[in-house]
Amino acid sequence: MERILNKIKAYETIIIHGHKRPDGDCYGAQFGLKDILVNSFPNKRIYVVGETSQFVDFVGKMDTIADDVYNGALAIVVDTAVESRISDPRYKLAKEVIKIDHHIPVDNYGDLRWVDTNFPSCAQMIAYFYLRFKDKLSLSKAGAIAMYTGIVTDTGRFRFRGVSQLTHQIAGMLLSKGVDVEYIDQQLSKESLDVLRFKGHIYQNIVTTPGGFIYAIVKQEDFDKFNVTTEEGAAMVSLLGGIEGYPVWALFIEYPNTDEIRVRIRSNGPNIDKVANKYRGGGHAKASGATLYSWDELPFLIKDIEETIKNA
Ligand code: AMP
Repeated sequence: MERILNKIKAYETIIIHGHKRPDGDCYGAQFGLKDILVNSFPNKRIYVVGETSQFVDFVGKMDTIADDVYNGALAIVVDTAVESRISDPRYKLAKEVIKIDHHIPVDNYGDLRWVDTNFPSCAQMIAYFYLRFKDKLSLSKAGAIAMYTGIVTDTGRFRFRGVSQLTHQIAGMLLSKGVDVEYIDQQLSKESLDVLRFKGHIYQNIVTTPGGFIYAIVKQEDFDKFNVTTEEGAAMVSLLGGIEGYPVWALFIEYPNTDEIRVRIRSNGPNIDKVANKYRGGGHAKASGATLYSWDELPFLIKDIEETIKNA
């Protein structure tokens, strides 16, 4: 953390990247860090770049910058374990790259890395960084809202293992900056009638396997048919969790304009990150992502997951 702070001090331009298809934690870490840096070093140029998320749009807006902004700049990549998942590949144009992440490491990219899987969210790491150097850094309400959002989304509203005394202490510190928990909950809980209908469709098409695996599929045509966004479609993974007798669940998503099938795997029993690694993915022990290149791979993935459940 000392070395990261020294690097930040040494650069005039700092560009903060996250991962593709960003979630609440990615936004929380990106915009939380931007807020700290903007308020602590008003003369530096600080940008946040990458794909956008409608779901957490209230947290902040991405900057659009030209390639030459990267000349002599520092890039900080948050919440991203796999180099190919970094959103906006221009981080490579920066003079130096720092990785800050809480996922099980996959690619050791970057000139400087702070990776700690004990943190249940990357936003908590950024807030912790702020706390560590509190006398030298500043944080405003907007940054606190960003990081609180990151913490609540990645911990499933403080429900997942990994939530600690420190998580609550940090959440308390963010509240002291003026965060309105009800406002954030309202933003995160918005739901359209189309999404409600889509949930009905998913519930009716759940598949179970004899070995304790439960899953559902979102087809390419579903997005138009049900008028839901890709983000809303992907969020359906949470519907399949906690069903008695099914410790592992997954949502398979055919995103439009690609042949790849994204898999979101979750567990409240065995660790599933190794299976995810086998199918071009990774993440956390109980929450990972993977990719299938064809539906022909599905029976193999099912078999591997059933094996994992059996050996747990
Ligand atoms: P997701 O199902 O996309 O929310 O992913 C669950 C967790 O695994 C998240 O923390 C992701 O950042 C991570 N993850 C998703 N896809 C991959 C991948 N291909 N490789 C490594 N980590 C991933």
